[in-house]
Amino acid sequence: MSNKIKHHLTDDLLMAYAAGTLPEAFDLMVSTHLSLCNQCRALAESFDAVGGYVLEKQDETVAMNDKALAETMALIANGAPIAKPRRPGCSVLPSPLQDYVGGDVNDIRWRPIGMGVKQAILPTTGDATARLLFIPAGTAVPDHSHNGVELTMVLQGAFSDEVDHFARGDVEIADEDLHHTPTADITGDCICLAVTDAPLKFNKLMPRLFQPFLRI
Ligand SMILES: [Zn+2]
Repeated sequence: MSNKIKHHLTDDLLMAYAAGTLPEAFDLMVSTHLSLCNQCRALAESFDAVGGYVLEKQDETVAMNDKALAETMALIANGAPIAKPRRPGCSVLPSPLQDYVGGDVNDIRWRPIGMGVKQAILPTTGDATARLLFIPAGTAVPDHSHNGVELTMVLQGAFSDEVDHFARGDVEIADEDLHHTPTADITGDCICLAVTDAPLKFNKLMPRLFQPFLRI
């Protein structure tokens, strides 16, 4: 499943994910990638193990109130909510993303942003933004650079830019120094998850004028 993924998350991101210090949008990116990538999942589990070891080695424990155990056991006895079964055949969105769109790819509420490209901003808290991008086959996203960090992961189809070719599960990590023009493969429409920690800077006038309205 994951042996075709060439572009992975950084150790820094996986460690921050294990520590629980990422903004929600980046958390979503990591959990979505981990659901497709055995290699990064193994690394993330080793970082989790480090956290567990640190917890065990703590000499000091903090007492909880007397009723905490009984109350927790009562909650378990009353039955924890059972996760909704996933619809069969929903293969584009991994389960962490299905929760954000209330279904799968057919439930995404796309907004056109020009040249056939569409986006759907996902509801996340924190300063970072998560969005799904739809790029029609053979279409280029306007040339842009970045004020902060942008992570883009392919969910369907593939795209190429000045850096490389990216297919399902691959993550491109772009920073302030990267100018790129991602172009969807001609063989099919491309759907990506993109997270940013600052607004993108568009180099051409029109997209820049529209930027405040599109929140990109
Ligand atoms: Zn990976």
